Amino acid sequence: MKMRLKDKVAIVTGGGSGIGEASALKLAAEGAKVCVMDIEQKRADEVKRRIEQNGGEAMALEVDVTDPEQVKTAVDKTVREWDRLDIVFSNAGINGTVAPIEDLSPDDWDQTLTTNLKGTFLLTKYAIPHMKNRGGSIIITSSINGNRIFSNIGMSAYSSSKAGQVAFMKMAALELARYKIRVNAVCPGAIETKIEQNTNRTEALEKVQIPVEFPEGDQPLSEGPGKPEQVADLVLFLASDDSSHISGTDIYIDGTESLLRG
Ligand code: NAD
Repeated sequence: MKMRLKDKVAIVTGGGSGIGEASALKLAAEGAKVCVMDIEQKRADEVKRRIEQNGGEAMALEVDVTDPEQVKTAVDKTVREWDRLDIVFSNAGINGTVAPIEDLSPDDWDQTLTTNLKGTFLLTKYAIPHMKNRGGSIIITSSINGNRIFSNIGMSAYSSSKAGQVAFMKMAALELARYKIRVNAVCPGAIETKIEQNTNRTEALEKVQIPVEFPEGDQPLSEGPGKPEQVADLVLFLASDDSSHISGTDIYIDGTESLLRG
């Protein structure tokens, strides 16, 4: 193994499941010390255990990315423990409530936007002071939704949050280039994870559905949805010096799904 991230320190939010979990494991396998943050402590603990079992170094912290105090405390704690911060993977996210706009409550809207978009802002904000001297890589999990796909009716809050993340990523990339901090977004299509558990599909959705039958195999490059490990490969590339000239870029990882459905 090349150990591309030897001596680096990484934070992964939503690191207890799915894309975050696969990425935390991959970054650690390449030598990074990884602080796994998740709103569910048990999940984070389990990923820490697996990293250590593989011979890596990890911390597990219970963090709600919507809470400024919790995010700041957790970032500072990571740096106190390991003395630096190089890689920040802002990945925690939810689908939230999926409903017609007229039925979506202001609280539903806030929950999705606060988790996905404000969470990314908070993590970036509190990471910057620790990354300014040495530079580093910030990676944000956005989506094909809100950027290339607008046909998932009912996901207006989710799609807005994911489009907002890409705009924020581009603003941050330019602003932080002077510190040699790169900022990029990964935009997955359907990936097999636990995200449906954080999805509240309402019955009212039926009244706004557009009756379109997608052909079988809506990811023409693969048999079905992508795997978290495939996204983790992209995250590793963006985290490592192999992508040293890439910043301000949104990269789609969807087996051409968004080209078919966009
Ligand atoms: P997942 O549900 O398997 O994992 C998400 C993790 O985030 C969970 O462990 C959950 O406990 C944690 N989390 C939720 N709210 C949190 C909060 N407030 N603070 C801290 N942690 C929190 O889902 P996933 O599919 O791996 O999702 C990861 C990211 O990928 C999300 O941003 C999601 O929008 C994005 N994404 C997923 C897909 C997909 O098809 N799975 C497609 C495109 C984008």
